[in-house]
Amino acid sequence: MIAEYLPVALFDSPVWNSIVYLLGELVIIILVLWVILSFLIGCLIALSIKKKKMYLPKLLRPVLTLMEGTVKLFCMMLGVDSAQLMEFLIGIDNQMNYSAFAKVPVEKRAVFIPLCLRSAKCPARLSPDVGISCISCGKCPLGDAIPVLKDAGYMTFIIPGSTFIKRLVKKYRPQAMIGVGCLMEVKEGLALGRKISMTTIGVVTATDGCVETTMNYDSLMQAASIGLEKPLSMPKKE
Ligand code: SF4
Repeated sequence: MIAEYLPVALFDSPVWNSIVYLLGELVIIILVLWVILSFLIGCLIALSIKKKKMYLPKLLRPVLTLMEGTVKLFCMMLGVDSAQLMEFLIGIDNQMNYSAFAKVPVEKRAVFIPLCLRSAKCPARLSPDVGISCISCGKCPLGDAIPVLKDAGYMTFIIPGSTFIKRLVKKYRPQAMIGVGCLMEVKEGLALGRKISMTTIGVVTATDGCVETTMNYDSLMQAASIGLEKPLSMPKKE
């Protein structure tokens, strides 16, 4: 009989009321702090993008992993669109991975390039072990870029999708990778790199789509030159 009334008595007691009150206050304080911090981070990102300079990247990365949704909202209110934000996040990851990438010997690095960058008339064949085997037919700039990367020591793969990356990483076991792709692909590639503990540098293509996309090959060469004594460059055209 007493046990039957015990819970009601407990939930009606002043002690219980104080606990609920305290919990309510705590939740409100956390929410207010969350909103203030998100707003400040949003301002920092907007300022970094405007000034083309990264402020406090080491603080931004972990905070953004936790609060990406609300920060995104404030960024939009401050005039930063989602593409700019994504590009900024890729920039932070690249900056944070720079020194670890530089320490990996070039023979232990892989470059993953999406097949949409090749010519629509590409004669190369697709194999499950290496992706597209470029034969430098001259129909697209990959024919110039791939030999430069291979001569430097890079494992280089032209691939149709991220499932290929997982398979090739398992097979060839690189210690670091450069992922080329559109904003979304690079973002996912960097997340994959974090998941499998692989130092990753992202290079974003200039256009996206499925066929004959374009990229700044100098940016690729710049990324591939990290930690090398002699910078790589695309062959000069006569
Ligand atoms: S250069 Fe290589 S990737 Fe480009 S179209 Fe020719 S074979 Fe394909």
